[in-house]
Formats: sequence, structure tokens, C-alpha cells
Amino acid sequence: MTETAATFKAKSTIKSADLEHRQKINFNIGRYNATVPQGKHQFENIELARERAKNMKWRALETLDQQLEEFEMQFTKRGGKVIWAQNSQEALDAILKICLEKNCKTIVKSKSMVTEEIHLNKFLEKNNIESVETDLGEYIQQLDGEPPYHIVTPAMHKSKEDVAKLFENKLGTPSKLSPEELTMVARDKLREKFIQAEIGITGANFIISDIGAIAITENEGNGRLSMAWPKTHIAVVGIEKVLSSITDLALLWPLLATYGTGQKVTVYNSIISGPKQTGETDGPDDMYVILLDNNRSNILLNPKQRESLYCIRCGACLNACPVYKNIGGHSYGATYSGPIGSVITPHLLGMNEYKHLSYASSLCGNCTEVCAVKINLHELLLINRQESVEEGLTTFSEKTAWKMWRMASLKRGLMNMGTGTLKNNVVNKLFKGWNKHRSDLQFSKKTFNEMWKERFNKSD
Ligand code: SF4
Repeated sequence: MTETAATFKAKSTIKSADLEHRQKINFNIGRYNATVPQGKHQFENIELARERAKNMKWRALETLDQQLEEFEMQFTKRGGKVIWAQNSQEALDAILKICLEKNCKTIVKSKSMVTEEIHLNKFLEKNNIESVETDLGEYIQQLDGEPPYHIVTPAMHKSKEDVAKLFENKLGTPSKLSPEELTMVARDKLREKFIQAEIGITGANFIISDIGAIAITENEGNGRLSMAWPKTHIAVVGIEKVLSSITDLALLWPLLATYGTGQKVTVYNSIISGPKQTGETDGPDDMYVILLDNNRSNILLNPKQRESLYCIRCGACLNACPVYKNIGGHSYGATYSGPIGSVITPHLLGMNEYKHLSYASSLCGNCTEVCAVKINLHELLLINRQESVEEGLTTFSEKTAWKMWRMASLKRGLMNMGTGTLKNNVVNKLFKGWNKHRSDLQFSKKTFNEMWKERFNKSD
């Protein structure tokens, strides 16, 4: 077992026995579950809406090369600059180069999973540049020195009391502040940073190729401030975020809002097509879009896994997953957690190191049922398992176990050997790992043959 897999197992074991954690998660996901049906009412036919959204992403991904080139052409016409980054290091180097050119000491950041993926904050810190998270959940997580717990709700595992305590410890505020008061504290601190920052960094929910713009959706307004207040705006975006037409937003924005938080539409929705133009009063002087590949092309090359690039990061599959709800977001040890994380992480970070995530699923199919864009998630988990076997990444004991199972299943004589008690003893003692977290396997006292004969004789 790799060290990553062993850490995953150890963390999951601890978390799944943590009842306080479970209670907080159930409370927060319970609130999500209560609001999502209200959001869905805005669609006359929700199944059709999901199907159409899937088709939009399919269309964009099937012509990804053309869409990205079209985006670059349109975006640069209005003075924007596009940087193509094949991996994390290229993206980080490009950001540092801009920071040095602009003599940047402070950066304000809005919520972005892709900047988590490239570990941007740590990199900036090493280079003596302050990077401040301005989304409230991300700000809380940064204060606590933790990565986001969930792709939509970064501090989902914290109660309001936990946040009040954190603020008391880190910012010296009174211990019993209400959520509104805590928000005002964060607001005060962050306004100062917006004024200081030379650069704002954001992600993007969508790249819109026909008009050469990016689209950002958020609830707090911090994204708008991050992109428009500092003199320079850098957006770091995964190449799969592409949409071929601005008209696709008419469906994808409300769909993302509903599946993400249960809203009909998110509070602030911005389409940004470049830096400030002559005669405009707001916006940055310079705007860069970094198009990040980071192994997404490998997923695109794989005809079965390509579908996972349709993901709009709504987080619905995480909220629906019984495994996620028990082991929590941090146990995955990867930027993207839950079912979609288990599907894409082995391809983004390496099958050998992360194949175990594809086995961390009951295959109940709940993720597939709730996915905003109908990605066949549980099927893709199975395909990951298949690919890892084909790549020869299974252990000797696992291979042996399946060989024995196959032999026994193909020979009735072998199946009928020994009593149920004997089989219980052999199997439960031989496969000790199996019953560590499960009850023992229980074989029937009689073989199938015996039961069949009895039944046949009776009906005779
Ligand atoms: S896989 Fe589907 S449900 Fe999960 S985050 Fe992506 S779009 Fe949402």
C-alpha cells in the first residue's frame, strides 16, 4: 500500500468515528438538502435541463482546442493576455513573473479550487508575497491553516461556535460573536487588504469562447472586488471550463446555483472580457488569464473518462455521498474530494498514488443521480478500478484472492467442498483486512446444490 493510501485509510478511520464531525456535517448538508428542491422548482423539466447542460459541455469539450483558440483570439482583441500553462509549475512561474513586474507585495484572492490545486498560497508565501483569501469560508480556513473542506463550502465542517473561537484566538475578538458580527469583523479586515493589494487573483466558473470572456459567479461580492479593484487581475482557470457560447450561461448559471446552494441564481454574476477599456472608470489596467492543463489533456484523451471534464463544480455529489459524509473532505488528501475527486484525482495526480480513492465508494450511485450535468460518476469509479488493474497496480494478495475466487466460481465441485462453518473459518481468517471494519462473511450452512436438490425434491 502506498503512503498516500495508508494516510487516507488512517484519516478516514479516525474521522468516521468522530461523532461531533458527523453531527456538524449532517446539520450543514441537511440545510442544503432543504433548499435544493426549492431551487429546482424554477425548471419546468429538471431532467431535460441537466441533459441539455451535459450536451453543452459535451459540445465544448469535443472541440476544446478550437474553443480555447477562439477564446484567446477574442480576449486578446480587448487587451487581455492569455498564458498557457501545461502544469502547476508553469502557472506558478507565470504568476511570480507578473508579481515581480508589478512589484507586488499583497494579493487578494477570491475562491478558486484551481489555485488550491497548484498550491498557490504556499508558493506566494515562500516568495514573500502576502496572499489573502477574501471569500468568507476561505478566509476562515486560511486563518485556521487548513485547506478547503468542500469545493463549494470551504468551512462546512465548522460550526458557528468553532468560527467564533477561531476569530477569538487569531484576531482577539470577543468569544461569543454572532455569525453577522463575525462577518463584519472579516469584512473590516478584508477591506483594508483590497485597498493595499496590487494584484487580484480569481478562478473562473466558465471560459466563454465566442465572446472571449470569463464568467464568475459568487455570493459575497469579494470576487468582484478582487478582479476590479487592484490594478492587475489574474484569473487561473482549468482548460475544461470552456463553454462555446455566452447563451449557454442562461442555463448553466441557474443550474450551478441550484445544485451548488439551492439558490435560483447566485447573487453576483460577472462576465469579464478584458482589462479596463478607454473611457471606462472601473476595472484593472492589466488582465491575464492563465489556462491550466495540469493533466486535463490526459483525461480528454481517454474516451471513457472524458465525461468527468464536464463537471461544473457544484458540489452536489459530495453532499450526496455517504462516504464523504462519514470521512469528510480532508481525508481524501487531494484538492478535489468526494465522488468527482475520486474520479479525477487518479488522473490528475497519478493512478498508482491515488487509485485507492476509486475504491472509497459504496457504488450506490447517489452521486450520479444528483449530478447537475449527469456525469456517470459511479460508472467512472468502476472504470478507474478497471484501468488500475490493467496497469498492473493491484497487490499480490488481491490478485491471489481474485484468482482463488475465480477458480472456485468456475468449478461447482470446489464450491461444494467443505461445510459453511469451515468456509467461514477459512475465509474470515485468511482475509483479515476484510473484516477489520466489517462483520465477518457468513456462508450458508448448505451449498446451493444441496438447497436446489431439496427444493426440487420437495416440488417433485
Ligand atoms: S461531478 Fe456533477 S455533482 Fe459533482 S461537482 Fe461536478 S457537476 Fe457537481
